[in-house]
Amino acid sequence: MPDPVTDTSGVAARLTDVRARIAAAERAAQRPAGSVQLVAVSKTFGDDRIVPALEAGQRIFGENRVQEAERKWPPLRERFPGVVVHLIGPLQTNKVRDALAAFDVIETLDRPKLAHALADAMSSSGRRLPCFLEVNLAEEPQKAGVAPAALPEFVALCRDELQLPVVGLMCIPPAEQEPAPYFALLAKLARRHGLAQVSMGMSADFETAVTFGATAVRVGTAIFGAR
Ligand SMILES: *Cc1c(COP(=O)(O)O)cnc(C)c1O
Repeated sequence: MPDPVTDTSGVAARLTDVRARIAAAERAAQRPAGSVQLVAVSKTFGDDRIVPALEAGQRIFGENRVQEAERKWPPLRERFPGVVVHLIGPLQTNKVRDALAAFDVIETLDRPKLAHALADAMSSSGRRLPCFLEVNLAEEPQKAGVAPAALPEFVALCRDELQLPVVGLMCIPPAEQEPAPYFALLAKLARRHGLAQVSMGMSADFETAVTFGATAVRVGTAIFGAR
């Protein structure tokens, strides 16, 4: 365990707090303890913040850039077995091969062209990573993800036609709005398509996401501090 005196970053203490808040939200929603995974979003942070989280037992992390993950994670994986790194940022088709090597889970499968590229790269590399389909619930033009109306067709393409390992849905709701209705909608869409996993909720709203059925929350600032 990290020493609270020498862990001047405060990461270990904040991680403990976030875990406790997730557990409380699980209880309040009458969901089983441990049913929500914590993805610790370490983007932009270096080993000085990440190592205290690893020493405190955290193993699931989120990064939003392929090159940053390639640089940061191989040495940490050597030191800390069992690390799982999720890609939570946009993926360009020319980076798909690199992403398959650098990550363990792809959370941002957001368009047909990327689905085809992933299917090709997975079959040639033999490395099949669990994928979340990203949904643009409010159809915000600046945001990635498929519109809710396009989701049935996108699920059919990814899961049925291309046989990608689709495990769930992911969303980033509109910034200035109450997130609860969006979380409820994403959980409903996942159920409708028989997808077990739902990735939603960040530092500002992860407890609400747990209430509405998140199976993974992506929390950065509340653990690692301001970026
Ligand atoms: C950065 C990021 C997060 C974490 O956001 P915080 O507000 O720092 O908790 C979660 N999801 C995605 C997709 C992100 O890019």
